[in-house]
Amino acid sequence: MSSLLSDAKALLAKLVSFDTISAKTNLPCAEFIRDYLAGHGVETTLLPSDDGIHANLFATIGPRGDGGIAFSGHMDVVPVAGQPWDTDPFEMVERDGRLYGRGTCDMKGYLACVLALVPEMKKRALKRPLHIVFSYDEEVGCTGVKPMIAEFGKRLPTPGIVLVGEPTLMTVVDAHKGGYRFRTEITGQAAHSSKPQLGASAIFAAADLAMELRRIEERLKARQINPRFDPPYSSISVGSISGGVAHNIIPPHCEMNWGIRALPGLDVPALVREFDAYAQEHVLPPMRAVSDDCAIVMTPTGVLPAFSSGENSAATSLVLKLVGQNETFAVPYGTEASHFQAAGCSSVVCGPGSIDQAHQANEFVAIGELERCLTYLGRVIDTASE
Ligand SMILES: [Zn+2]
Repeated sequence: MSSLLSDAKALLAKLVSFDTISAKTNLPCAEFIRDYLAGHGVETTLLPSDDGIHANLFATIGPRGDGGIAFSGHMDVVPVAGQPWDTDPFEMVERDGRLYGRGTCDMKGYLACVLALVPEMKKRALKRPLHIVFSYDEEVGCTGVKPMIAEFGKRLPTPGIVLVGEPTLMTVVDAHKGGYRFRTEITGQAAHSSKPQLGASAIFAAADLAMELRRIEERLKARQINPRFDPPYSSISVGSISGGVAHNIIPPHCEMNWGIRALPGLDVPALVREFDAYAQEHVLPPMRAVSDDCAIVMTPTGVLPAFSSGENSAATSLVLKLVGQNETFAVPYGTEASHFQAAGCSSVVCGPGSIDQAHQANEFVAIGELERCLTYLGRVIDTASE
């Protein structure tokens, strides 16, 4: 086994040992990476979050200034609660050519490969800067990276190309759907359940609205087909509903969190207006007949624009060449690439591991994937040295 691979494995084991579930602090993880980089003579900028429990990490190796190539990844991971893990999720276990643990695939494996190559980056006479751009709170809607991108051109240089290492089985992803999240709060009227005529059920209203979302999705399925994506249509999902008080009370309150996974080009505002019109014109009036206090209020809770790198973009052309492939793919899940792209950085997604293992119990990355990633990243360093 190459020493580079064993370095990457050791770094991955260390990164996995930090419980960086998005809601928790990632500071010990970020500080470990900062200290590791300092050990190789690389200076790091940590950008703390407003609440002080998270930090983004930015470092440059090679010449200073804008341009160059950035390695982008997130330090946070999704929760493990309720998942049937066979091993401790925060202790990396090697078995049958795979490395198991929370984040091995999504996406500390990529971070470990980047970090393992830092000594190589330092050794080379780089003509273009290489940037390490590691974020927090990716898994809760790609929110953590935004304040870091806001510093591009100010405290931080603006990378020319951003290589986002989300798991793609080392294929090249140049487009993904957008994600739009909403909360709909329904205020009904409480009453004894033996006297339903005196109340307005917020839960029945929520159920009605959920079914309307289902009908809208059916229409999207029929008309918005883009064969690059799987599924090839914009989809809608109700993620959670909560409400009610007890079995014998007409529920006065219900809250529904839902979202749209939008193909590039979908007119999301028009769709949202259509849904809101249904709520205000069909669902609310019979409730208002019971009480003027009844209300249906919709609030956007997060937006990740759809991502499209653009035909023959600098990032896509480079990565296709370096991984020796000639086909790009579109994926149904979101990444930070859309924010980088929106900030003017040519972006592309390519990383080790399969999205099928991400967010699951017994998450793993195949060791062969890390080897392929290390080879690819080595070529990126060659490119920056030419
Ligand atoms: Zn991820």
